[in-house]
Amino acid sequence: LYNEVQDLKGNIRVFCRIRPLGRTGDPSEGCTEVGMEGEVAVYNPNTRQRRTFKYDRVFGPESSQSEVYEDTKALIRSVLDGYNVCIFAYGQTGSGKTHTMAGTNVADLEGRGINYRALDDLFELNAQREGEVEYSIRVQLLEIYNEQLRDLLDTSRVTKKLNIQNTERSGLNVPDAIQVQVTCTEEVLSVMDLGQSNRAVAETKMNERSSRSHSVLTIIVDGHSHVTGGRTHGCLHLIDLAGSERVGKSEATGDRLEEAKHINKSLSALGDVMSALAAKQNHIPFRNSKLTQLLQDSLCGQAKAMTFVHVAPEVSSHGESVSTLQFGSRVSEV
Ligand code: ADP
Ligand code: MG
Repeated sequence: LYNEVQDLKGNIRVFCRIRPLGRTGDPSEGCTEVGMEGEVAVYNPNTRQRRTFKYDRVFGPESSQSEVYEDTKALIRSVLDGYNVCIFAYGQTGSGKTHTMAGTNVADLEGRGINYRALDDLFELNAQREGEVEYSIRVQLLEIYNEQLRDLLDTSRVTKKLNIQNTERSGLNVPDAIQVQVTCTEEVLSVMDLGQSNRAVAETKMNERSSRSHSVLTIIVDGHSHVTGGRTHGCLHLIDLAGSERVGKSEATGDRLEEAKHINKSLSALGDVMSALAAKQNHIPFRNSKLTQLLQDSLCGQAKAMTFVHVAPEVSSHGESVSTLQFGSRVSEV
């Protein structure tokens, strides 16, 4: 039933979230407005023009983490039923992607993000089905930086080249990636902490690398029914994308320019794939980036994807906000 409900709403859904003003210390005033029924408007301070965009839903600055999670909940069940699900956070650096996905300090219940809530629900459903279905749950944490894949759970410090092999709908295309078996949300969090500290080690020379790489947390769920003997396999991918800001040719040189080119390429490849899926085209251009290759099995067929496009409300971000909102429109099914 849960999948039927989801199918009626479409397999590709786009939400917009606007963060509160001034969170990044920018003193400029706001230029966004949340309308009725999934509409959002942005004003251009120069031309005084107003543009509106429409999505499945828009979350304004006052929206809580639990409201934002509401529509995701049903998808979590479908992972246990053997579906692949991708949840993306898109937007410029400082627009709230990490706030939505990772959330704030987990000790603060309300601050918890989608990652925590999804895991909690997964384990709770697992407990509810105990005796009926036995699930094995594993996590994998990868980073894509400059079109190179890195395993954040690999502590060996040996830089291993990871290859992507697209298999038959398994959702898991990196055979050498480390997967850690987990039994509760806290365990996943400590695995993730390990991953983050691992990331930090390599980061010392690369200031703020996290905003220029994609992080892909994957929860792999294998089920075995004691009642029917049937088996299920589903993956939940939680993706905090690299910042979508356009870097001006004059600002970027050397490493920065290289990073910008790679980010540009992979985000536009993602946009192309999602809009082809949304338009139900026959050819889906998965080959154009590491990110889309990695997620290929989880984006085609019966898979479900949710994208949260994040907007910084300040006038100074007007240009970036419009391009973020355009990305959202391009990848939505309507
Ligand atoms: P990004 O990951 O896109 O670079 P962050 O999630 O780090 O952006 O958000 C930038 C800042 O704004 C952080 O200090 C974050 O805590 C704050 N912030 C983002 N979204 C919200 C929100 N909805 N409510 C309150 N604070 C937010
Ligand atoms: Mg971030």
